[in-house]
Formats: sequence, structure tokens, C-alpha cells
Amino acid sequence: MNFEMTEEQVMIFDMARSFGEEHIAPHAQEWEAAGTIPKTLWPQIAELGFGGLYVSEDYGGSGLTRLDATLVFEALAMSCPAVGSFLSIHNMCGGMIDKFGSDETKAKWLPDLCSMDKVFSYCLTEPGSGSDAAALRTRADRTNDGYRLNGTKAFISGGGYSDAYVTMVRTGEDGPKGISTVVVEDGSEGLSFGALEKKMGWLAQPTAQVQFDDCFVPAGNLIGEEGNGFRYAMAGLDGGRLNIAASALGGAQNALDLTLAYMGERKAFGKPIDQFQGLQFRLAEQEVKLQSARTFLRQAAWKLDQGAADASKFCAMAKLYVTDAAFDVANQCLQLHGGYGYLADYGIEKIVRDLRVHQILEGTNEIMRVIIARQMLAERG
Ligand SMILES: Cc1cc2nc3c(=O)[nH]c(=O)nc-3n(C[C@H](O)[C@H](O)[C@H](O)COP(=O)(O)OP(=O)(O)OC[C@H]3O[C@@H](n4cnc5c(N)ncnc54)[C@H](O)[C@@H]3O)c2cc1C
Repeated sequence: MNFEMTEEQVMIFDMARSFGEEHIAPHAQEWEAAGTIPKTLWPQIAELGFGGLYVSEDYGGSGLTRLDATLVFEALAMSCPAVGSFLSIHNMCGGMIDKFGSDETKAKWLPDLCSMDKVFSYCLTEPGSGSDAAALRTRADRTNDGYRLNGTKAFISGGGYSDAYVTMVRTGEDGPKGISTVVVEDGSEGLSFGALEKKMGWLAQPTAQVQFDDCFVPAGNLIGEEGNGFRYAMAGLDGGRLNIAASALGGAQNALDLTLAYMGERKAFGKPIDQFQGLQFRLAEQEVKLQSARTFLRQAAWKLDQGAADASKFCAMAKLYVTDAAFDVANQCLQLHGGYGYLADYGIEKIVRDLRVHQILEGTNEIMRVIIARQMLAERG
């Protein structure tokens, strides 16, 4: 068993880290205030190969493993978790099209996705169905040459901003087997967006409802086969959950690094606060949380890369454990900054706000427990 990263993996991490330090971190607060990420950032990110991380090289992707991808998201999130996570959603769409699309479908979408000339969003959640995603009601009725979509998707990251929406729709019976996946392009007739949601964190990326009102989608925009959309959506989420966890980890690591430096400078009762043993113990606890979270995350990613039978369970366990640990660490770091942790200039309060949603989206941490327990009961024999 070898826990060391390969030279290539170290290079991938360092490349993402330095790109983030140069092109993302200096603008993170400005983008928060503006409520959007400039679209000019994406082709620069794509030049590093991060637009289609696990899309095959035949279609312009980087063909990396899931483990490699977690390194990219951990490193980018050290500069801004909201930007790193937005890229992870785009990559989740790329992974689904690459894995389940026909050659024709791949040739149609993937080159622009990988170059990030087109930014992709993922639309599963609806106003009436979040955790119970298989209860979705957005209908796609067959026409001679495609589908007419009617319904609403809620909480869509990139709603009104992205160029294409990978959308789960109902083409058949109730339940998971009646769901299909289609790509809806921005500008399609009958496609509109709700107002921007006012949120606690992830402020740099726009979140809005995506509405379909007799929205026409050509037959060629179907991904894979009708009736398999729920399976594709869940497969996308296995990897997505690793990335959401990796982004949380990167954000928390940045908070801890900032805190370690701050504690050497800040004095109380005549000495730097890092000389109080009670606070040193607190630091040690945060270090243990992040290192154990990192090891667990990389094991889950490795399982997914191996196609292990228990990969979904491990992805759910890693999402639950890492996002909870990362939020706790960020919150502790805020406490260790005292009042300054509450001020925007110190960078910690943004991380706390950003990481909170990682415990909620791509399956809440309660739903992660449901997945883990279900698998345990099934394995009991
Ligand atoms: C900022 C943000 C961005 C998002 N981006 C996207 C996106 O891009 N695309 C997308 O499709 N969705 C997106 N989402 C939606 C997100 O995935 C859902 O909010 C999430 O899945 C939870 O669904 P819900 O909000 O409807 O909560 P509900 O399902 O209503 O859950 C309410 C509470 O009940 C708990 N609960 C529900 N069922 C069970 C159960 N069986 N056992 C135990 N507890 C249960 C939940 O854990 C939660 O605590 C985003 C959400 C946010 C906040």
C-alpha cells in the first residue's frame, strides 16, 4: 500500500494551487460582491485541462482519474471554494456525457465543454423534490423530432449563467425508471430563469430556478437511453460528491493555514496565542480532522477509479465525513481568530459561509447516512 502521491499528481495539485493563487484568490471577494464569476476565467482554467478532467482525450478531455480530480478541486478551493465547486458541477456534466453518451452525443457536446467555450449546469432538484429526487415531475413529452419540456428545476448552480443544462426529466412512469437525461441549450425556446437566489455562501456563483414552458429540445440532445436518466444522475453524483468533499477540504485547509500564521502574530496576556497549550491542542485536533478526512477521501476516490462494488458507499461516507470535518475546522478557525475571524478582511468568515452548503447539496449528509446504512443492511447477508 502506497500513500504517496505520484510526481504527476504533485504536479497537478501544484498547478491548480498556483493558478488559484494567481487568478482566483485576489478576486474572490470582488466576485462575491458581484455575485458572478467572469466568464473569461473558464477558458484559462480549460487551458490547464480542468474543463473536462475525466473526459477522454479523444474528445478534448484530460482523461484523469477521480483521485487526480479531487487534487484539482482541493487545490482550487484553497483560493475560493465557490469557484472550485462550480467547476466541479461542470465536470460532473462532462463525466456523465462521456460515460453514457453515444459517439455522436459526445462529439456534439464534449469539445466545447472541455474548452469551456460552453459552461454546463446540472439540473436534478425541483421545488417539490430534493432528497427524494426520483419523485421529480418535470415532463418531457415526445414530439416528431424531439421533446417538449414543462416544469421547474430549483437551486440550479449557474441558472441563467450557463450555456447548457444537463436536465433530468420524466419521459415515462413514476419513479426512477421513468427518468431520462437531456441537454437543454441556453437560448432554447421556452427556457427561462427565476430571480437570483439570495444565499448564505457560494455568493460568487449564481443560483436560480430553471423553468421550462413548452421548451423544445431536439431528439439528438437525449443522453444515452430513455429511462436510464436517474442512473446517470446518480453515477454523476458519486464522483460529484468526492469533488464537493475535496472542495470543502481545500477551503478548510486554507482556513487552518491562515489560523496557524495568525496565532503566531496575535498576542494576549503578554505572549503569542499559539503559546497557550489549550489552543495548541485545538490546533492539533484540527490537523487530525483534516488529515484523516484527506486519507478517507482519497481512498473513496481510489475505490471509484477501481470500479469497486462498494464505491458508492465509500463516496457517501467520504462526503459525509469530509464535509462535516471541514465545516467544523473552518468554524474552529473563526473562533481562534477571535473577533477578527468575523471580519471579511481576514478571509475566514467567507470560508465558513461557503462550506456550510457542502453538508447540504449533492445529497444532504442525512441522505449520505441513508445510503451508507442501506448498503450495510444489504451486505449483512
Ligand atoms: C447553493 C445550492 C446550490 C445547489 N445547486 C444545485 C444544482 O446545481 N443542481 C441541483 O440539481 N441541485 C442543486 N442544489 C439542491 C440540493 O442538492 C438540495 O437542496 C438537496 O439535495 C436537498 O434537497 P431539499 O433542499 O429539497 O431538502 P429536503 O429534501 O426537503 O430535505 C429537508 C431535510 O430533511 C432531510 N431528509 C429528507 N429525506 C430524508 C430521509 N429519508 N431521511 C433522513 N432525512 C431526510 C434532509 O436531509 C434535510 O435535512 C443546490 C442547493 C443549494 C443550497
